[in-house]
Amino acid sequence: MGVPVAVHEALPARDVLLGRTTHVRRVLPNKTRRMIGAWCFLDHYGPDDIKATGGMWVPPHPHTGLQTVTWLFEGLGLHTDSLGSEQLIRPGQLNVMTAGHGICHAEVSPEDAPPRLHGVQLWVCLPDDVRDRTPADFTHLADLPTYTEGGVTLKVLVGDLAGERSPAPTFSPLVGAEVRLQPGSRASLPLDPAFEHGVLVVQGETVVDGEGLSANHMVYLGGGREGLELSVPETGEESVLMLLGGAPFEEEIVMWWNFIGRSHDEVVAQRNDWNGDGLAWTPPRYGVVEGFAGDRLLAPPMPNVRLRSRGREA
Ligand code: MN
Repeated sequence: MGVPVAVHEALPARDVLLGRTTHVRRVLPNKTRRMIGAWCFLDHYGPDDIKATGGMWVPPHPHTGLQTVTWLFEGLGLHTDSLGSEQLIRPGQLNVMTAGHGICHAEVSPEDAPPRLHGVQLWVCLPDDVRDRTPADFTHLADLPTYTEGGVTLKVLVGDLAGERSPAPTFSPLVGAEVRLQPGSRASLPLDPAFEHGVLVVQGETVVDGEGLSANHMVYLGGGREGLELSVPETGEESVLMLLGGAPFEEEIVMWWNFIGRSHDEVVAQRNDWNGDGLAWTPPRYGVVEGFAGDRLLAPPMPNVRLRSRGREA
């Protein structure tokens, strides 16, 4: 499979209810594009009033074969995991958890969280040669490489962009950045033509690659691009965008619930190792989130059909 060509395709988000009260806009996987590079999951949520939604409440749950990337625009979160990490999640700070063979974590709104919560939850698929690695790292980066010029601010979450490189651990060629543009400003971002890219507009009307895009819309841009033009009208508000890109991920994967494997049977085993299914549950694979005040989240029943492995395009 070759490098994808430049395109301009809308990736419509769908509304997903998480728990009882939290609505998210799920952009990846999408009907037509399941991945952008190794980015295989993107939920955009808020801004929500946590007094109305109850805030973030995700009890301990497992992951396999992926990295979680947590990024807030507003609010405060608390991450705890089976490595013993305990980390406040603040806007503009990066948190990357590399699951490998198995890990579990919880994310909640701490008691002193401000009322508004707004963020994205991303997953990065790990390539076959590293996906079973021992989970050893939770990475918190309070200060990311930042590039500022003429009303444009880039924060590089992973990979490199505009001469700035993030120290976050990656296992395939990847880029992720938050881009802010003041009203009346424009940017010409240099892109790697070997990557495919997509842009999510988080806030503000923005002209992306020549077309106006409003908040909560995402566009898939394909590959083969040396650069990307962005601009915001004088009369607009500050724009906030997420740029995601990477080398096309050519492995076929099975993604189900919080697991990524390569076959139906492998995901069944990942699920059974978490749920226990009638056996006295021991947690050697995923460990335990010590001190969590509540039950862990069990996986739902497997579907009645066998899960098929799928590529990056639908
Ligand atoms: Mn998770």
